[in-house]
Amino acid sequence: MSRKILVLEDESSIRSFIVINLTRAGYEVIEAETGEDALEKLKGSGDIRVALLDIMLPGIDGFEVCRRIRATNTRIGIIMLTARSQEMDKVTGLMTGADDYVTKPFSPAELTARVDALFRRAGGAAPEQAGEIHQAPFLLNTRNRTLEKNGQRVKLTQVEYSIMKMFMENPGKALSREEILDMVWGRDYFGELKIVDVNIRRLRLKIEDNAQNPTYINTVWGYGYKWGF
Ligand code: CA
Repeated sequence: MSRKILVLEDESSIRSFIVINLTRAGYEVIEAETGEDALEKLKGSGDIRVALLDIMLPGIDGFEVCRRIRATNTRIGIIMLTARSQEMDKVTGLMTGADDYVTKPFSPAELTARVDALFRRAGGAAPEQAGEIHQAPFLLNTRNRTLEKNGQRVKLTQVEYSIMKMFMENPGKALSREEILDMVWGRDYFGELKIVDVNIRRLRLKIEDNAQNPTYINTVWGYGYKWGF
């Protein structure tokens, strides 16, 4: 199985730091200096499983690169490298289709932990006990990791798929944001609870009839969410 990762970062000192640490962790790193370069390299190598995208770049920015990747590829794991610590950056990144973000400066341990976690998910390594979960109008196929609503395919990222699976396996049960973070991102995850809310907001846009007035993923105020009919 491929261990390829794409690193898009225009500052060569930061790029080298990332490359050295990921190579040491056993990954094969493909480097890109601009967004255009990154998109070319992704096109040329179909087995890249995770991409790290810097946001502030000389040409098209990291958000745009993320958007363009997601237009054709929902399987690849995407981590945004955010320089600023503003919430907006993180939210914008996740709304354009990123799975995670790392705020600079980061330690080698933090970077590797994030990449490892996403890599495991993007690989879909754990074989599922085959099957389907059917809750009209949704049909989740755990073998292909796909979702249909009324027979129409809904394109999901790996994280969105994991959230849907968690909900559909726990219908009617209120799940706290901490539980969701543990179940979807794993117990060794460093991130903040906010990532749960942002991913659910994005998922609602894809699966609800009206995301402003959700009926499938219900908010349990002050606690978390519930998959409810
Ligand atoms: Ca930069």
